[in-house]
Amino acid sequence: MANVQAFAKRSLYYLKQLQWRCLSSTVLSHMSKSPLLFDNVELASNRYDIQRGNFAKATQQDINYFKDILSSQSAVITDAEELIGSNTDWLRVVRGSGPVLLKPENTEQVSKIMQYCNNRNLAVVPQGGKTGLVGGGVPVFDEIILSTSRMNNVIDVDKISGTLVCQPGCILQELEDRLDSDNFILPYDLGARGSCHIGGNLSTNAGGIRLVRYGSLHGSVLGVEAVLADGTVLDCMSTCRKDNTGYDLKQLFIGSEGTLGIITKVAIALAQKPRAQCVALIGCNNFENVKQVFSSARKDLCEYLSACEFMDSKIMSLVENHLKLTNPVQTSSFYVLIEASGSSEQYCKTALLDFLETLIESKVIKEGIVADNSVQIKDVWALRERVLEACQHDGYVFKYDVSLPLRVFYNIVDDLRSRLGSQAKSIGGYGHIGDGNLHINITCEEYNKQLEKAIEPYIFEWIGKYKGSVSAEHGMGFIKRKYMNYSKSEAAYNTMKGIKQLLDPKRRMMDI
Ligand SMILES: Cc1cc2nc3c(=O)[nH]c(=O)nc-3n(C[C@H](O)[C@H](O)[C@H](O)COP(=O)(O)OP(=O)(O)OC[C@H]3O[C@@H](n4cnc5c(N)ncnc54)[C@H](O)[C@@H]3O)c2cc1C
Repeated sequence: MANVQAFAKRSLYYLKQLQWRCLSSTVLSHMSKSPLLFDNVELASNRYDIQRGNFAKATQQDINYFKDILSSQSAVITDAEELIGSNTDWLRVVRGSGPVLLKPENTEQVSKIMQYCNNRNLAVVPQGGKTGLVGGGVPVFDEIILSTSRMNNVIDVDKISGTLVCQPGCILQELEDRLDSDNFILPYDLGARGSCHIGGNLSTNAGGIRLVRYGSLHGSVLGVEAVLADGTVLDCMSTCRKDNTGYDLKQLFIGSEGTLGIITKVAIALAQKPRAQCVALIGCNNFENVKQVFSSARKDLCEYLSACEFMDSKIMSLVENHLKLTNPVQTSSFYVLIEASGSSEQYCKTALLDFLETLIESKVIKEGIVADNSVQIKDVWALRERVLEACQHDGYVFKYDVSLPLRVFYNIVDDLRSRLGSQAKSIGGYGHIGDGNLHINITCEEYNKQLEKAIEPYIFEWIGKYKGSVSAEHGMGFIKRKYMNYSKSEAAYNTMKGIKQLLDPKRRMMDI
């Protein structure tokens, strides 16, 4: 116990050395909405080798029809300046030339739009918070953009059974704030919470930082209502946890990235808000130690473990240099962020301190700090959650989001470093180690075809060899879909194509 106290004092000592900075998740909203950031992005149709489908082009008559059914003038946007943001993705990699942005308010309006577009053979792209990272939420050519931003009503919070029913355009952060007073949380969370929508989260089957505890959305989503490509409303809404009446059709829409229809309503099982939360940031000498930290965390923190993230030194230096955030632990080769949360404040902190003490004594780690108040916790999390933003400051980012078995997990980063040498400005690895999910960010001054060819398909072949996944949580969008065969068998992919043919036979939504 004395050692624990000594460690606790030491933790506090480190905490005192820090200049905690107050960070805000609204940064994301500003970044994704400023048109100034978007105007020099190359058109996707120029950069990528893709063919436009044989669709109609929107006419003034079509726009008049949309204005008729969406009663408010501000629900039909055709102003070129305003459209730039909606046509450009968060990473500023993809830009389309969608001529009109529609903002319906309810399922009926979505259904009418989809029915009309079906009759007119107009292609449509659903758009949520536009934080997707694979080019899915913006037009590739001149698709009609259907934004869910005005479909943002909470329909019901059942405090007894712990369920939420809402429209798809609710922003994750706003849902989190609303549920807080009832002591509920959503069973997932991600750094893009200030902008992303719950509909977008379902459509991408977003993983995020709590998957290690609550599992994937396939387990917690209870009901989905979706409008199909021809305007049919498919009602799979339920707030029951159990339903074994035939095929579970709602699952098709979780992770289908707007290729099968538009999610217009969601029911989800909530988790109880933990009373206590502590976060540790740990420095490790090598990746073997990172794995040991994770496996000890599972064993020693048990049900209190709620997140386990890692980043390498390259990534940490980008965060420190570009965002001027303070790294509170000694410079190390790797950093692990462990979050413990649960019902007992005392147990939570003691368990985390005991855990760290054991790791230090057994020389698995050099040192760590513990943050146990909300400001400090937020600041430690910012080091991890603002990685993508830091990489954006470094130049053009080739971004990969892969699943790999932990035994070979980080080898791919070392391998890419020796393969690419000085062609890349920086190559860093980070991600959700608790889920076996690695993000690899490769930066260079500006988009470089030569470098891209040196990375792809090499990286996907590497992942295929170890039976990993070429997309762990971001989805395929149109950028990654050509690499589907590295993670899906021919029979599985053909079955997917059959489902696509059934629900969107004219392929007016993004193809697979
Ligand atoms: C800083 C940052 C951190 C991130 N962290 C994570 C993370 O930890 N885990 C993770 O999984 N992802 C993460 N992402 C990626 C992204 O936030 C998620 O993919 C998110 O779920 C996208 O939601 P969105 O509302 O922004 O969707 P959008 O980007 O608008 O759309 C994404 C896809 O879903 C489709 N879509 C959107 N709404 C609907 C709808 N109602 N019906 C049908 N299709 C729809 C779009 O057509 C598109 O294909 C991160 C992104 C950023 C920028």
